Amino acid sequence: MKVQCDICKTEYNLPSNTSGEVKCAICGHTWTISNKSHRSWLMMFIASLCALLAATIFTVTVIITSRRDSSDKRPLVAVIDNVQTVTNNGMDQVIVTGTVTNRSDDIYAFPDLVIVLYGDDGAPIARQKFMPSATFLDVGQSVSFTHKLSGNVSGVKRVGVELMNMENEK
Ligand SMILES: [Zn+2]
Repeated sequence: MKVQCDICKTEYNLPSNTSGEVKCAICGHTWTISNKSHRSWLMMFIASLCALLAATIFTVTVIITSRRDSSDKRPLVAVIDNVQTVTNNGMDQVIVTGTVTNRSDDIYAFPDLVIVLYGDDGAPIARQKFMPSATFLDVGQSVSFTHKLSGNVSGVKRVGVELMNMENEK
């Protein structure tokens, strides 16, 4: 193996596993050579430790990422169960019923809901905010809501529901 004097930069060829104190023949500088095989073992250990660390970080990243994916698992989810048209005094009225479910481990105040009316092209025509009568959602609880749409509902092809202040606040 090659070693170099730190002071005068003279190079020496020494047996590969030389260790201990050596003295430069030119300038008399002495220094210690640590056993190369020992050092390479240490390097390998450090390298494997780094690899392990990288694998750990990778695993953590994967867990966090997949958790983030499934944490699209919003705590509260609103779904529409039924949309029915009733005729009252010759007027068509649309009544939307649905359920809000608390999927989290916390108690939530019942959110304000927005009924979104979509037209032919799938774009929202109107949004009707309303406050359900329920006030709290216990852990795992599902509470139904009913909302009578107000105003003109002609041209409405689809009805959706969104939670206020929970996700896409528009
Ligand atoms: Zn030297």
